[in-house]
Amino acid sequence: MEAVHGGRGRWGFLPLNLRFKGSWFSLVKEVEKRQVNGKSFFDLLSAKVRNGLTVKFWSDNWVGLTVLKDRWPKLYCLEKDKQCVVADRLIWDGSMWRFTPNWKHGLSTVEEISEMQDVDFLLNNSSLSSEVDRWFWGEDGNEPMSVASVKKWIRKGTEVLRDHSMIWESWVPNKVNLFIWRAEMDRIPTKEALIRIHVNIQDDSCALCNSATENVMHLFTGCYFACGVWSAVGIWCDIGPVMAFDFIDLLHVQDQSHRGKWAQKIIRVIVYITCWVVWKLRNERIFQGANPKVVDAVARIKSWPFLWLKNRSKYTCIEWKDWGRNPLYML
Ligand SMILES: [Zn+2]
Repeated sequence: MEAVHGGRGRWGFLPLNLRFKGSWFSLVKEVEKRQVNGKSFFDLLSAKVRNGLTVKFWSDNWVGLTVLKDRWPKLYCLEKDKQCVVADRLIWDGSMWRFTPNWKHGLSTVEEISEMQDVDFLLNNSSLSSEVDRWFWGEDGNEPMSVASVKKWIRKGTEVLRDHSMIWESWVPNKVNLFIWRAEMDRIPTKEALIRIHVNIQDDSCALCNSATENVMHLFTGCYFACGVWSAVGIWCDIGPVMAFDFIDLLHVQDQSHRGKWAQKIIRVIVYITCWVVWKLRNERIFQGANPKVVDAVARIKSWPFLWLKNRSKYTCIEWKDWGRNPLYML
């Protein structure tokens, strides 16, 4: 594509008015911004140099592991013609192919000289021929570009984006699911998150313990209030201490139980409600001046899922007094 159309930012041959963002414009933008494993579509485009007339010396992938303007930034600054092609710089001097620079001024700094030594090393065996340059696309740089390979690459990126630990839980109200989903992505309005988007907040300390910056990790794992709550939840569910150092660890707490899929589902519900309750109490502390206690949190954590399970699951006959002792008693 780059070989045919002339490359990034130069789609001018198309009957395209840039003021109207049509589908082709969107497509190109989409391709330009998409990254898979830190690489863009253009990073995967590479050239096998033959006559060197279509391959840009500094900005196309044609030798080594990266484009040369990144490998030799100091020399790139010295280059007079940044758009030059390989054939402009690699010239037959009658006995060998020689790198022929066009600098703004002579090399003077240690960095420039050391990059120049690397040039001699890297281009030592480079040569040109009379054939036309060839272009390849893909991770290993040896397959011609095809629609199928690009589709496969884009799909791979989409799978990476969907790599969440959070599972939408049918026994839990949507607002709680949504909250967990956002918390996993660090998209809930903690003080740290608000400061990040330049909301004027004087005190960034955790509303529940005042001992650390309030962010998702602290609020749901490191906070002494949350630790007290998790300790009670661990005992109630009989799964031992809840081991969590980050929010994502909480989404795997159900794996600590070895009692089958229904036990794990119930524990997941309890983890979700625990996070939700901690967040609600934090809000009540900030906005209503409440003084939450761990026992209040645990009381809510026990009562809400009891109602959800009674109404939404097959466990319609659960008894409050047994549930209060252990939420897995009926399994
Ligand atoms: Zn705290």
